[in-house]
Amino acid sequence: MHNTIIIGSGPAGWTAAIYAARADLKPMVFEGYEPGGQLMTTTEVENFPGFEHGIQGPDLMSVMRKQAKRFETEIISAMVDSVKQIDGGFEVVSKGQTYQSKTVILSTGATARRLGLESEKALYGNGVSACATCDGFFFKGKNVIIVGGGDSAMEEATFLTRFAEKVFIVHRREEFRASKIMQERVKANSKIELILNSEVIEILGVDVGHVTGVKLRNTVSGETSEMNIDGVFASIGHEPNVALVKGLVDLDEKGYVKTIPGTSQTNIKGLFACGDVQDSRYRQAITAAGSGCMAALDVEKFLAGHE
Ligand code: NAP
Repeated sequence: MHNTIIIGSGPAGWTAAIYAARADLKPMVFEGYEPGGQLMTTTEVENFPGFEHGIQGPDLMSVMRKQAKRFETEIISAMVDSVKQIDGGFEVVSKGQTYQSKTVILSTGATARRLGLESEKALYGNGVSACATCDGFFFKGKNVIIVGGGDSAMEEATFLTRFAEKVFIVHRREEFRASKIMQERVKANSKIELILNSEVIEILGVDVGHVTGVKLRNTVSGETSEMNIDGVFASIGHEPNVALVKGLVDLDEKGYVKTIPGTSQTNIKGLFACGDVQDSRYRQAITAAGSGCMAALDVEKFLAGHE
């Protein structure tokens, strides 16, 4: 029986692994098939303390993984298929193999939300993207839309102006929820134009196999209109990856794993959660890492109390 199994390999999972390994708990990490989480699709991370000149997201994750490995973390490059409670702990199944552990740390993160349109699905990868940093380069000299009004939308719109001729931010309300500084940066950028009180109701171009335009609806007047465009990026927030524990642990009203405030403890004894899967508010690499540290310390204390 393992001491702890960590599911997920973003900053929360690796930090939990580093702390658990240094406490000699010999943690096992399931890193999934696309390890590293959301930072793998980020370019420059400028606000992670310790990197005065910034660091690329994938590089940060690679360093964290190496650091976890250095202290004898066992890393499994596979997805977990199920987690269930058994006497004295948990049973984790991955690729037909069963692992038992006294505790589980859930650090499965969150995934970018989609608009939910049929045409979005049909044109995904052909002008529709959820990742400006990954795909921005393909829109050199083109006109693109970013949907959303949060910090991510502002950040991605600004980033896309490096490539695109014109970036339109389509937002469903009059006000942005993004921080003032990000909004100001956007408003000062002559390549960015705002289309407020509007939503994308269809992406055009399915018949030709690539995005040619969008159908917009004014959320105040209800009027619809069409607009030519080469690319559509949705930047409308994230959904927590809770499928593994749905029905097992309590979720909050937004669908995130509920933890006892100030701890990583869920309502199930021995099951801890950290990072974006339990945080709809801060969602930063540094807060995820901090909560990963909390989870490892909580596991250590929990195990000590049971021995
Ligand atoms: P967010 O703050 O939740 O914003 C999502 C935006 O998408 C909102 O403007 C929302 O509109 C809109 N939206 C949601 N569902 C939609 C739909 N179906 N159709 C159209 N629009 C939709 O998400 P986020 O921008 O990803 O940011 C998440 C967190 O990360 C925030 O705490 C943010 O501060 C942080 N963050 C920080 C930085 C930074 O500081 N460098 C960068 C990126 C993100 P409404 O406003 O109408 O709800």
